Amino acid sequence: MFFKDIIGQKEVKERLTRTAREGVIPHAQLFCGPEGIGKFPLALAYAQYLNCENPSENDSCGQCPSCIKYNHLAHPDLHFVYPIVKKAAKKKEVCDDYITDWRNFIKEKDYYFSYNQWLEYIDAENSQGLIYAKESEEILRKLSLRIYEAKYKTMIIWMPEKMHESCSNKLLKIIEEPTENTVFLLVSDTPDNIITTIQSRCQRINIHGIEKQDIVQALESAYNITPEDAGNVAHLSKGSYLKAIETISLDEEHKLFFNLFVQMMRASYARDIKQIKTIGNELAGVGRENQKSFLIYSQRMIREYFISNLKHPEMIYVSSDEANFGTRFAPFINERNITGFMDELALAERHIEQNVNAKMVFFDLCLKITMLIKS
Ligand SMILES: [Zn+2]
Repeated sequence: MFFKDIIGQKEVKERLTRTAREGVIPHAQLFCGPEGIGKFPLALAYAQYLNCENPSENDSCGQCPSCIKYNHLAHPDLHFVYPIVKKAAKKKEVCDDYITDWRNFIKEKDYYFSYNQWLEYIDAENSQGLIYAKESEEILRKLSLRIYEAKYKTMIIWMPEKMHESCSNKLLKIIEEPTENTVFLLVSDTPDNIITTIQSRCQRINIHGIEKQDIVQALESAYNITPEDAGNVAHLSKGSYLKAIETISLDEEHKLFFNLFVQMMRASYARDIKQIKTIGNELAGVGRENQKSFLIYSQRMIREYFISNLKHPEMIYVSSDEANFGTRFAPFINERNITGFMDELALAERHIEQNVNAKMVFFDLCLKITMLIKS
């Protein structure tokens, strides 16, 4: 992992590379901050940088034997600890039993991932992921190994808040009396859930959300997206690159809903009964869950368009299509009909939940909208 491939986080990168160059390397560091902002890639890039044989001022070389092994996440002096679920039948009990999954997962997610994504990846079903007591023996064993070839033996512990107490206590001992040239990098979404004795023995690195402009740039280079849409998605993501990607992948469904919404409003406005029937039929075919989601989406849109009339500065649309449609449509939503709109959409949602015939529900809804839209 290179620092240059990490989105934003300029200050943290500078701090990490500077302290490394100066040889100030605390043996236990806690990278903390919200999900999806790049804590794990930062810790990994830092570990690679510490061990690179020919680092530049800002990054690892990428060419030396250490960098090459780091790139494969397979350096003999790089160890990972992460939550797992025990699968007795498959003899999966410690992190190393999942190491292939772990490496594939990181590559597949391109270094940005969440706890829930990992659990899903390893088919945890309803089980919680944990770093089990047994892992402590593994940690001790790995740290007692002679250092193979690196400058630093590095142990990256992802989500230490999921560590079993007895494992935490053993870890505490090693953090207090570390073996030579050993670096612990703990990466946590919720550091307050780590036992305080460990927290207090780590040098804490607080990492904040990614700057909006950096997310915009990353989105524009990774996706076929207009600068305007990238800006809106970045705004909604509140500094989390993961959240931004999630918003974009919801896009398909989102576009479908938007188109249906526009059709429904246009047909209702035009009192085009034939078209209203067609839309009712189309919506009847998308399944109950989608029908509900569509009605929830419609309520949000009506609310946003109403607010946009009040020139509320915080109003934000996900896509420019919605904003464009809004410039024509929003003036039809006003204080006389907003409650009616919201009530009718909520009623339709309840009827869908109660299994009322969808064609009837949407036909009725459109007729109500034809009345509301004129008031
Ligand atoms: Zn290198």
